[in-house]
Amino acid sequence: MGKILIIGCGGVAGVAIQKCAQNDTVFNEICIASRTKSKCDDLKAKIEAEGKSRSKITTARVDADNVDELITLIKSVKPDAVLNLALPYQNLTIMDACLACGVDYLDTANYEPEDIDDPEWRKIYDKRCKELGFTAYFDYSWQWAYHDRFKDAGIMALLGTGFDPGVTSVYSAYALKHYFDEIHTIDILDCNGGDHGYPFATNFNPEINLREVSSNGSYWENGKWVETKPMEIKREYNFEQVGMKDMYLLHHEEIESLAKNIPGVKRIRFFMTFGQSYLTHMKCLENVGMLRTDPVMHEGNEIIPIKFLKTLLPDPASLGPRTVGKTNIGCIFTGIKDGKKRSIKIYNVCDHQECYREVGSQAISYTTGVPAMIGAMMVMTGQWKDKGVFNVEEFDPDPYMEALNKWGLPWVVDENPVLVD
Ligand code: NDP
Repeated sequence: MGKILIIGCGGVAGVAIQKCAQNDTVFNEICIASRTKSKCDDLKAKIEAEGKSRSKITTARVDADNVDELITLIKSVKPDAVLNLALPYQNLTIMDACLACGVDYLDTANYEPEDIDDPEWRKIYDKRCKELGFTAYFDYSWQWAYHDRFKDAGIMALLGTGFDPGVTSVYSAYALKHYFDEIHTIDILDCNGGDHGYPFATNFNPEINLREVSSNGSYWENGKWVETKPMEIKREYNFEQVGMKDMYLLHHEEIESLAKNIPGVKRIRFFMTFGQSYLTHMKCLENVGMLRTDPVMHEGNEIIPIKFLKTLLPDPASLGPRTVGKTNIGCIFTGIKDGKKRSIKIYNVCDHQECYREVGSQAISYTTGVPAMIGAMMVMTGQWKDKGVFNVEEFDPDPYMEALNKWGLPWVVDENPVLVD
């Protein structure tokens, strides 16, 4: 049917690319491009050696911080869509290149600047903190601002087609379509019951992950943001197939888009599970300055502590063989149907070792990479089609939900869930 250009060849991209190759009637051609071309070549060789896919795979080197390089690549590959699975730092440059070439754009995480000390960015950030009331470094305003330009160019951007954001947002649209007249509250619960055996490691890009979890928490209530200290709000929850876990309230990007797109919603919260050992390690690293994102001089060389830490930590892509256990990610909705109160939970359980057997990755990369492929399929097949910049919950959830069942992330609806107080 068409050709996709995938930027990035890390943990999430590794899964998305293999799933695109499995879905070879939609993805006839796949071009994988990243700064380190050898990683793209290795993945191409792995897929070709398995001999199961009819997709034609090519590879290229690109620095996605450079718009001109991206434009040259897009013009030579001529893809139907560009799937950005590099880092959130590259979102705007890749969107610029897609605009210049008239090609659809997709990603799994919203824009965040690499340099949070850039005075131009700081000015806008400080204003946003005051106006909106949350202090996370990432927000949707940067990418939503491209809406009219994408619309005028006759192309679309689909933002946030991972698991959270992504599947959790599609669950919200599905709940609204089939189970509620009004949704009043959404609690997104992200539980990783996996154990990789290391004292400390992150399940996806350490820099992005540690920035996110060490930030203030926040939630949306009655039309405004309420900000909390990091890990200030803790709850316990008994997750199906995982068991009892501590979970903590975090700021998370889909709260921002769901508050805009789910009419009448009164409260949206996001919780993620962490073990005590993870939190103690993170606090210690933060206290000694290892999470700093600004350059410091070390024996005559400039280093950025969090980037150096990334070099020391296990590569998330290497956790696959050693991670055992399951993830359980989903949403609890409360609201009204036919005049009566109702609550449901929609969730997926994913087994780390099953993911490893299928694609050589742990479940965090899997649960993000599969929806990245599904989002791209929605766009390439025209099942989701519009002009402008959109979040996934703005489209019909049914074909996406059907695809989740087919492509490895089956979901369950619990009509009598335990609620979070
Ligand atoms: P990795 O660090 O494993 O991979 C990042 C990839 O981006 C690498 O292949 C890297 O290539 C490439 N890259 C980085 N900078 C550039 C650049 N300037 N030009 C070209 N390529 C570049 O990250 P993950 O796979 O763990 O995460 C990928 C994305 O998925 C992130 O945006 C993350 O936030 C998001 N994510 C979303 C989730 C969701 O549920 N929505 C959950 C988990 C992650 P190289 O090695 O050559 O530098």
